[in-house]
Amino acid sequence: MRIVLLGAPGAGKGTHCKRIVDRYGVLHLSSGDILRRERAQGTPLGKRAQGYMDAGTLVPDDLIVEMMSKAIKAAPEAGYVLDGFPRTVNQAEVLDQALSENGDGIDLVMNLQVSDDVVLERITGRRSCPKCGAVYHVKNMPPKKAGVCDHDGTKLVQRPDDTAEVVKNRLATYYEQTRPVVDYYRARRTVHDVPADGDADEVAQLLFEQLDALEQE
Ligand code: AMP
Repeated sequence: MRIVLLGAPGAGKGTHCKRIVDRYGVLHLSSGDILRRERAQGTPLGKRAQGYMDAGTLVPDDLIVEMMSKAIKAAPEAGYVLDGFPRTVNQAEVLDQALSENGDGIDLVMNLQVSDDVVLERITGRRSCPKCGAVYHVKNMPPKKAGVCDHDGTKLVQRPDDTAEVVKNRLATYYEQTRPVVDYYRARRTVHDVPADGDADEVAQLLFEQLDALEQE
């Protein structure tokens, strides 16, 4: 299965990718997570990416395309779900071209639809564990003990780009550069829109319906 999960920041892409991985055994390829790992390791890519990430703007396409091509090539037979990539029309074109050179293509594109105020509320309340990556929300999904991870007791942190000011930039970047990716795919194939303002279990159910159908093809 080769899946693309689209949606604004805070739409729930990361949360739902984890559920998709658990159910279908595909690999979660999140460009944001890979970049954060590169930063934590202090690699040249991580260093080049950090200014863009902290400002809520996009890392240049050539760096991202190289990084994601490597990750996709190393993916297992079961396939992958792409999260946060492609994020520009150019990235989508390069991805399509690279896949078609191998006689492959994306099997399913799903688009999580959320309103801006839900995005703002979700992202500014998001906290994560720097050790195991578990994600919480101060109101909607609090840890058992405030401020610490349920799994390993590590102090939870807020991503530096999850502040209200940076989220506004990330949303503006989304509308300007990433929303056109939805139209790019719509012009070429079916895009399954999934309303994602509501309860995560209900959203997951809608995603699973599409994926179950794909699995049975
Ligand atoms: P995310 O965790 O997906 O919200 O990504 C965090 C940040 O990483 C974004 O705000 C961008 O600065 C950068 N980033 C992630 N994916 C991409 C991409 N496909 N193209 C360009 N920049 C990206």
